[in-house]
Amino acid sequence: MDTRISGNTKLLGVIGTPIKHSGSPVMYNFCFDYYGMDCVYLAFECDESQVKDTLAAMRRLNMKGANVTMPCKKEAARNMDKLSPAAKFVGAVNTIVNDSGVLTGHMTDGMGVVLDLRDHGHSVADKDIVLLGAGGAAMAIMVQCALDGAKSVTVFNRSAAGVAKAKAIGENVREDGIICKMDFHLLSESERMHERIRHADILIQATSVGMRPVQDGVSLVTDMSVFHEKLVVYDVIYNPAVTKLMEDALAHGCKEENVIGGKGMLLWQGAGAFKLFTGLEMPTQELKAFLAGREAMERKI
Ligand code: NAP
Repeated sequence: MDTRISGNTKLLGVIGTPIKHSGSPVMYNFCFDYYGMDCVYLAFECDESQVKDTLAAMRRLNMKGANVTMPCKKEAARNMDKLSPAAKFVGAVNTIVNDSGVLTGHMTDGMGVVLDLRDHGHSVADKDIVLLGAGGAAMAIMVQCALDGAKSVTVFNRSAAGVAKAKAIGENVREDGIICKMDFHLLSESERMHERIRHADILIQATSVGMRPVQDGVSLVTDMSVFHEKLVVYDVIYNPAVTKLMEDALAHGCKEENVIGGKGMLLWQGAGAFKLFTGLEMPTQELKAFLAGREAMERKI
């Protein structure tokens, strides 16, 4: 790695805290090596109060770009020169491109789900989608589905505050001329939720329910009769790899290839960012093979 760093090497990185566990440096540096690009990607601890200084450093050091993770996504969005449509609607940024000192903020989390669905042979265009959750991930997904031509997105969320926030974002999307039917409900309207899932093309689970270690082994979908062989079920949770929702969907009529966990979302949101940084497609097949080899090696150690 260090032998290829030169006076011309361009710097990129990820900012947030905690950051040492981030898989992004391995992923992007693999891709730079793959293409023989003179770039290096590092992880930088940064909390919300340090975002402005970090952005000034990005300009000063002419960094090519950066990814932004918790808790800095909203503060970064407030300090961009320009925002992509998805970042503007969601009010958060996970990717920054530096074009000669002009910082443009993008949000590729929703793209991660849409591209992963595409990788599994499913498009969101003209589809009826039920979305569980109204947090950061859910809102990025809702906006991306609307931007990519979904026919409808019906959102269910636990708190009324989340429902109200989703509704406000939905109104902004519609005011911008994007045609997608969106409606918003509480998760406690259980009968309505199950009925909507029964008639949906795609169910996207974007709450933290099902996540290890705290919410493992539970699912918000309790009526097993909603699952059928045409329904695509996407769960953003990647730990565990197969959630209770996915187990239930598989046991009650959904096809294996239509039940997808959140591991690919990580990869594909990165692919979206890599394209913004470089204009190139991320070598996803090669990266998947590399990461699988690394995981196997780490399990042996
Ligand atoms: P967030 O902004 O904190 O939102 C959390 C969401 O989960 C809210 O809608 C919240 O509802 C809901 N929720 C939490 N506990 C619940 C419960 N017991 N019952 C019903 N709803 C509950 O978090 P986020 O950033 O959106 O992340 C959500 C999940 O997505 C996390 O598990 C995260 O790990 C995962 N994620 C995965 C990827 C990936 O690459 N695969 C990327 C981003 C996030 P309220 O509004 O009622 O609180």
